[in-house]
Amino acid sequence: MLTVESLRSRYGRIEVLHGVSFEVGSGEIVCILGANGAGKTTLLKCLSGVQPASDGTITFRGENIGKLPAHRRVQRGLAQSPEGRQIFTNLTVEENLRLGAYLFSDNRVAKDMEDAFTMFPVLRQKRNLIAGGLSGGQQQMLAIARSLMARPSCLLLDEPSMGLAPILVDQILEVVRHLKSLDVTVLLVEQNAFGALSIADRGYVMETGRVAFSGPAGELVENPRVREAYLGH
Ligand code: ATP
Repeated sequence: MLTVESLRSRYGRIEVLHGVSFEVGSGEIVCILGANGAGKTTLLKCLSGVQPASDGTITFRGENIGKLPAHRRVQRGLAQSPEGRQIFTNLTVEENLRLGAYLFSDNRVAKDMEDAFTMFPVLRQKRNLIAGGLSGGQQQMLAIARSLMARPSCLLLDEPSMGLAPILVDQILEVVRHLKSLDVTVLLVEQNAFGALSIADRGYVMETGRVAFSGPAGELVENPRVREAYLGH
């Protein structure tokens, strides 16, 4: 579904992605792991088109999308749930969801919203409340639900467990696993390596702007280098 080859990106004169290559198959959950500053968020931003790539190619469902502006990539089925959630705090839950569906004016939007409320019942209860008043976990649910309103075939999900209590982390990871049954392919960036590997099919480990190694999730969990660096034992 997604093939990234030799991707480079820079902030001003400082290059932070030094030729990253990987692929995501249709229906997979693939995680990108790595320490702070490894370049994970920059990578996702390059894929969604909000950060320019200076070199390399991004092929999504057979099309080179590397030069398309962000909104055209959303139209192609690539949506991002950004780090830090970035919800519209002064709008209601429902208004946030409607903005996620800005591409569409058809009857399916109401059904999509119902689906979002079925997936996250707490959002139904709070649909008319200002999103800034939600808890961190609820805001994360809203961010994911909003990105799903764009009907993505591939979701770019940046650090969904950041700052959440363990029980909420489990809930969010369960939602990601559920997306797979809805035929949504997921590229998941996580600091919570153990949680991410528990639901992922495969993973890539980034170090300072490069893919250091990769493998099936079950292998990465057992890899001593991963256990030491990212799992803390
Ligand atoms: P984290 O988990 O902390 O978000 P990350 O792996 O997602 O880390 P990035 O946020 O992509 O890493 O950062 C990669 C490098 O780019 C870091 O050295 C960071 O300081 C730098 N960087 C990120 N955003 C900017 C920016 N807007 N301007 C300049 N440098 C940046």
